[in-house]
Amino acid sequence: MHEVALAEGVLRIVMDAARANAAVRVHTVWVELGALAHVEPDALAFCFDAVTRGSVAEGAKLDIARTPGTAWCMPCSTQVSLGQLGDACPRCGSYQLQVLHGDEMRVKEIGIA
Ligand SMILES: [Zn+2]
Repeated sequence: MHEVALAEGVLRIVMDAARANAAVRVHTVWVELGALAHVEPDALAFCFDAVTRGSVAEGAKLDIARTPGTAWCMPCSTQVSLGQLGDACPRCGSYQLQVLHGDEMRVKEIGIA
């Protein structure tokens, strides 16, 4: 499962930040997830719960914010924004789209105690 690897990546970033700040507990992790990423937010949160067990981030809340995606529409020759993967161009309805942004995930902030 793809979400497990992502959750482990998030945990690595969280652990480094926790160590650098001598945190005893991580209570919240804010991540930004592109709307066009092939990631199920619920599955990611579930995996995060599993991989953080026994760490300083055990029980931490994973706050997932979806960020809109952008794609290049070939018929329109312009950049359009997409709400989700598989959507058509909002201007012309074409599916000849090339994703530019919105398939990435990043850790935005970590709440520590
Ligand atoms: Zn278009």
